[in-house]
Amino acid sequence: MANSPERLEAMFPKLTRAQVDRLRPFGRERRFGDGELIYERGSTKRAFYVLLTGRVEIDTAARAGDENVTMHEPGEFTGEVDMISGRQSLVSARARGSTALLEIDPADLRRIIQTDADLGEIFLRAFALRHAYLIDNTLGGVVLIGSSHSADTLRLRAFLERNGYPHVYLDVERDRDADALLESFHLGPAEVPVLMCKDRDRAMRNPSNAVVADALGLNTAVDAGHVHDLIVVGAGPSGLAAAVYGASEGLDVLALETSAPGGQAGSSSRIENYLGFPMGISGQDLAGRAFLQAEKFGANLAVARVAVGLACAERQLRVMCADGGTVQGRAVVVATGAAYRKLAVPELGRFEGNGVYYGATRVEAQLCDGEEIAVVGGGNSAGQAAVFLSGIAKQVHLLVRGAGLVDSMSRYLIQRIEKSPAITLRPYTQIEALEGDGRLQRVWWRRANTDRERHDIRHVFSMTGADANTGWLDGCVVLDAQRFVKTGVDLAPEDLETARWPLQRRPYQFETSLPRVFAVGDVRSGSMKRVASAVGEGSAAVQLVHKVLAE
Ligand SMILES: Cc1cc2nc3c(=O)[nH]c(=O)nc-3n(C[C@H](O)[C@H](O)[C@H](O)COP(=O)(O)OP(=O)(O)OC[C@H]3O[C@@H](n4cnc5c(N)ncnc54)[C@H](O)[C@@H]3O)c2cc1C
Repeated sequence: MANSPERLEAMFPKLTRAQVDRLRPFGRERRFGDGELIYERGSTKRAFYVLLTGRVEIDTAARAGDENVTMHEPGEFTGEVDMISGRQSLVSARARGSTALLEIDPADLRRIIQTDADLGEIFLRAFALRHAYLIDNTLGGVVLIGSSHSADTLRLRAFLERNGYPHVYLDVERDRDADALLESFHLGPAEVPVLMCKDRDRAMRNPSNAVVADALGLNTAVDAGHVHDLIVVGAGPSGLAAAVYGASEGLDVLALETSAPGGQAGSSSRIENYLGFPMGISGQDLAGRAFLQAEKFGANLAVARVAVGLACAERQLRVMCADGGTVQGRAVVVATGAAYRKLAVPELGRFEGNGVYYGATRVEAQLCDGEEIAVVGGGNSAGQAAVFLSGIAKQVHLLVRGAGLVDSMSRYLIQRIEKSPAITLRPYTQIEALEGDGRLQRVWWRRANTDRERHDIRHVFSMTGADANTGWLDGCVVLDAQRFVKTGVDLAPEDLETARWPLQRRPYQFETSLPRVFAVGDVRSGSMKRVASAVGEGSAAVQLVHKVLAE
């Protein structure tokens, strides 16, 4: 992918002598001989280096000279986003010629980024651009071999994409290289999806997200005995905001996330009403930035880590995870949001991820190129999906249960839908059946009081109302009739009595019926179900976390 000179300059900036001098008190000088390895792909929590003399070659493999990424000159520095996240390095670095480097520990680098605004901006921008460059050019990542007919392939593609991990995707039905690669591991096309590490010494057959996270070092180790100041459950906009504000205000924060940062917003192709982004921003970009920001301040985010329970009868708050582990905190912010309601049609499960999708990102969109597709729902998320997909699909049928869109969708989206020849609005219409052999091939729908219609549609985007992700909280906090978490003034005296609220004071705003446990964003009863309000609630709740920790 071509880079403009300005972008290249921001990606590989040269520090001035004065800037290097500001860094010297934090580091020590080290010398490396020609060809000597400075750090290796796969290493974690490695040091940060500024070049004083000589050159440093960055490549993506253990062997020198493989997939050269760049050659650093004096005044330049090493590293990308992994410098902040502590994740495994995607590249190796080797000295070229006799080389002198200023070596700085990662903890000191974080301190510099937080306290020196000038250097912090240069480093963070370079790290983010370098990471995007590795993703765009699929450098240093993994190879995923799969099939567009497999739900697990889609799951793994979405997991890698949304966690910002570089990967090459090979489809067994389209890419000739796929068979040969599979054969080298004695595997056949029927065994996909298969994930291969780039150095191709390891292949994993249909791994779970948790196994992938472990294999790729996406998480730093969590110490079960350690008591964090704050555990945030869910890393959508509200959870990420709580993590950023908590960590920036000195709290020791651990965030747990089932899949990848971003939540529902991460599945949005373009958010146009979030303050400060007049051109709109994709949910994934917003989540990527928030994730970097949270890690810059020292929050620890564990992905593919599902909370399955909260131990509420004990003094110490403990969150139980699906892998059998437990984490402990002095306060908990519940930010588990909501998930789209499922279509009421028989055999839905056979087609989920295999023709029926709950998000419309680049990954799903690629499957719809030139096809006729259906989007179900009359809210903003359905509208956004229809507009986004109409640029890729041949025809988008927008199916709504009611008369139209006016009551449920923002005006700007309605106007775009009305103007688009590629979108057909179908009011009073509901899907009644899905059919297909192995994958979705046909959809039957009915417009009120008319005959059932058959359409050869292979992709349906289901974006109807959402249900709260509160199953893991059962019996611990008071929920409303729709199973959203009640907080603050919404907790009636009888709720508090049932919950045996033990304190003299009433629950603070966002505090649940269990002291020191807060709920923010879409999971909270009465919330606005918007990115901005979720972010606002996540950040505001941190103020109250300070208050309860001081009690
Ligand atoms: C396609 C789409 C488009 C949208 N567009 C807009 C828009 O343009 N503007 C706007 O303002 N709003 C938009 N919204 C709504 C907005 O995205 C939500 O209001 C917002 O994401 C809510 O944030 P949240 O953090 O509260 O919850 P969520 O975004 O739902 O995040 C919750 C997170 O918690 C995780 N989680 C759930 N259960 C567990 C568990 N047990 N353990 C660990 N983690 C868990 C989930 O994986 C998820 O990442 C859109 C929503 C969608 C789906």
